[in-house]
Amino acid sequence: MTRRRDKTEQRWQGIAVSDGAASGRVLRIHSGGRHSTFRSAVEPGELEREVRRYRAAVRLARRQLLALKKRAAHTLGEEHAYIFDAHLLMLEDRKLNEDVEAVILAESVNSEWAVKVVTDRLLAVYDEIKDDYLRERSSDIEDVTRRLIVALSGESMGGRRLTEDAVVVAEELLPSTLAELDFTHVKAVATDVGGWTSHTAIIARGLGIPAVVGLRDFYRTARTGDTALIDAGRGEVVLHPGADSLERFGDERRAASASAARAAPSEDLRAPLRTRDGVGVTLRANVELPVEYEWVNRYGARGIGLFRSEFLLSHRGSMPDEDEQRAAYEELARVAGDEGVTVRLFDLGGDKLPGSRLDPAEERNPALGLRAIRFCLQHPEILRTQARAVLRAAARGRIDLVLPMVSDVTDVRRAREVIEEERDRLEAEGKEAGPLRVGAMIEVPSAVLVADSLAREVDFFSLGTNDLVQYTLAVDRGNDEVAGWFRSLHPAVLLSVRRALDAALAAGIPSVVCGEMAGSPAYAAVLVGLGARELSMAPGSIPRVRRSIQGIEEGAAAEIAAACLECADADAVEEIVREGLGGRWPNLFPPEILPPRKSRG
Ligand code: PEP
Ligand code: MG
Repeated sequence: MTRRRDKTEQRWQGIAVSDGAASGRVLRIHSGGRHSTFRSAVEPGELEREVRRYRAAVRLARRQLLALKKRAAHTLGEEHAYIFDAHLLMLEDRKLNEDVEAVILAESVNSEWAVKVVTDRLLAVYDEIKDDYLRERSSDIEDVTRRLIVALSGESMGGRRLTEDAVVVAEELLPSTLAELDFTHVKAVATDVGGWTSHTAIIARGLGIPAVVGLRDFYRTARTGDTALIDAGRGEVVLHPGADSLERFGDERRAASASAARAAPSEDLRAPLRTRDGVGVTLRANVELPVEYEWVNRYGARGIGLFRSEFLLSHRGSMPDEDEQRAAYEELARVAGDEGVTVRLFDLGGDKLPGSRLDPAEERNPALGLRAIRFCLQHPEILRTQARAVLRAAARGRIDLVLPMVSDVTDVRRAREVIEEERDRLEAEGKEAGPLRVGAMIEVPSAVLVADSLAREVDFFSLGTNDLVQYTLAVDRGNDEVAGWFRSLHPAVLLSVRRALDAALAAGIPSVVCGEMAGSPAYAAVLVGLGARELSMAPGSIPRVRRSIQGIEEGAAAEIAAACLECADADAVEEIVREGLGGRWPNLFPPEILPPRKSRG
């Protein structure tokens, strides 16, 4: 007998990370990359059953692959469907299946663990191979492994190919998964983990998609096809909403769209931006996905202040080659025009890397591990390819390169050395390399403390406040359990921002603030008060930040910022910001856009 699922209305409270609300059918997406595989013991009497479970998963994965192959042949042509043949051959490989079953039986372990043991062994062999083509095939092994492990969990991996509007529900959405979604069909996003600066949040805000994160167990409860209502304004999610909830939602949506129509920006977004007392501020755009490119100019951004290049990686973690990268950077430079684009070196590792051999789940402490510049320096072939692509694109348009997560000048020197070697090599090959300014992301405390020496070594600073908050306060930016401790307005963070800005000023180099703080009108005003003159944010945030900056006096903002720097904790700073900005300019800073009073835990 099948048990009927409870379809009464249920509510979840999470962290609101964007605006708006939407209702629709749930589509659960398995993010894959973070899937950790546990070892568990299987009783001797259950081993036969475990083997049968493994065989069933192989059959399920095979059926999925055959369906995918058919669809690929239909939509892309037979010649593109061949990649699935390699995966099918692997699944049908007698030796592989026998090995997995042998591990289950010999070690009395679960199928997931046995799959991991066998495929890890295989990957180690491929790793040793010098031939690029064959080594590349290791990503096929990873793909098939992930498919098998997902099949063992009873999930489907097919969710990414959205064909109709859906409310996307996931435990966590990795950048690579997000990059592959068809956003025209995403009505809303709801995830179990995440925080205000997690990548799901950044992308959802950038694309104007209602999103609530940190729902803890919503993914486990919701099923594909269920109806859900996502209210990003309230941070609320309703599963199986009843008639009353849907009606209230309908009324609110009508009211919201009427007020949005009234508030549509009418000002000239390209006009130079000044505070009321005449201080110039430049607003640039952060972009990740091609759908955002056209918004750079639509919202009047002065060039692209941050391109998160890791979004060029596919879900499987495969690297774009030199020509693919060069084409992408040239396109970005074209979009950015005279004001140029700042390409960030791959910020991989930590919460950023899609599943691969270097899966962050394998590191004990990924945020402190082989991430960003460390990853690039440790994988010189990846760094060299990216450097060549950037240098070549810089011959066609204005491109700057920024190094993520540098600790001190050593990281900068080592990266520069590789870049200059590649410049020489390109010249020797008769290929044109353009001028390139190299900057440092200031996002870890050590970089702040040695900001003076760093400023003498680089051409500009880019302040990544998302990581600066994470590392200064030792709070995981993607962990909703500690969201109460993630305080962007903590005095330690503001002191760091001030110190980095002052160091840049003293060295005569520009600095741009490109973390999520820059896109919030209240935080942006504080940043201007601290001395920031360039801010980079999701293109859609530009109009409202612009409105707030042109309405304030820099002198007054500087007084507010100076008072904030005297505070002992974030509560005190937030109180000053509420009173300082809200009290002085109530029309620009109504209570709903000021930091709310928070409590921890
Ligand atoms: C930051 O850390 O503030 C930043 C801009 O980069 P990311 O969010 O990609 O880490
Ligand atoms: Mg960062």
